[in-house]
Amino acid sequence: MFTRPFRFERADRLTDASDLLRRHGDDAKVIAGGQSLMPLINLGLAAPQVVIDISRAEQGGRPRVISAADGYLTIGALVTHSRLTVDQMAAEQQPLLCSAAARIGNSRVRNRGTLGGSLAHSDPTAELPLVMVALGAEYEVSNGERTRPIRAEEFHLGFLTTALEPDELVVSARVPSLGPRWGWAFQEFSRRDGDFALVAAAALIRSSGGAIIEGRVAVGGVSDRPVRLADVEAALSGATAQEASGRIGTIRGISPISDAGASAAYREHLAQVLVQRVVAEACQRSEAA
Ligand code: FAD
Repeated sequence: MFTRPFRFERADRLTDASDLLRRHGDDAKVIAGGQSLMPLINLGLAAPQVVIDISRAEQGGRPRVISAADGYLTIGALVTHSRLTVDQMAAEQQPLLCSAAARIGNSRVRNRGTLGGSLAHSDPTAELPLVMVALGAEYEVSNGERTRPIRAEEFHLGFLTTALEPDELVVSARVPSLGPRWGWAFQEFSRRDGDFALVAAAALIRSSGGAIIEGRVAVGGVSDRPVRLADVEAALSGATAQEASGRIGTIRGISPISDAGASAAYREHLAQVLVQRVVAEACQRSEAA
């Protein structure tokens, strides 16, 4: 594939990247791991005239740090998927996130791809945006002059579409640490290992005295963004683990598409099956927690 030439700029700080985005406007794109942007450029689906490299920015800075405090885990935007997969503290604080990161692509992709890139790319079948929505994550975005929090559900607006302003970058994402009596589960179905998921599902269940007191369930790949299943969460409240499966009912609020990968009906079926499985698995973990 012939790639249109572009000018390459390197930013040592995210604020410098925002300055360059303001200077070059729509002609510029930020690149971190390049695992989504470069395929788009090589396929002729993106043709920035200026590419601003942040892959070496902020050495030692916050965008490269994974930290835990006050019941939250904060992951910097430049943390790679492979680092998130192996970080011991992250695995203890929020195993759902690490389990999902391990399902991204292959080791080459995980070694280069970054959290910020995956969130900003906002592919509706991507594991990390799905898990962030399930966890009720809050992203920190900044244009170098102003920093603001955005809830994950308000950030992912549609297919490859986010609430980022043109000069803003994702700096970090903050998720609640897994508390006592919480169980979690993540499952996806893809044609081959390492492929993008056709459909993925995530669940977090907190139970006490054998009854579910809180549930968070989300699915990816069945709409233009990750979808929280509020009906399912409400139906699970008060159920025992044995009753949970029967409470799920027909998944509503999703609008899967038909494409070369699968029909809408098949995606709907996958969502039903995967939600049943992640709820059952999260209930088991909650009872064992
Ligand atoms: P880049 O490609 O560098 O950038 C992606 C987009 O985000 C660009 O628009 C860029 O401008 C923007 N961006 C990057 N960093 C920031 C930031 N900090 N703030 C604001 N904007 C930013 N992904 C999955 O989720 N699951 C998969 O199974 C999967 N399989 C893949 C298989 C292959 C073979 C390949 C090549 C990719 C696959 N991907 C998969 C996609 C890819 O892993 C992610 O989307 C990727 O990790 C994005 O991170 P990145 O740093 O490479 O982003």
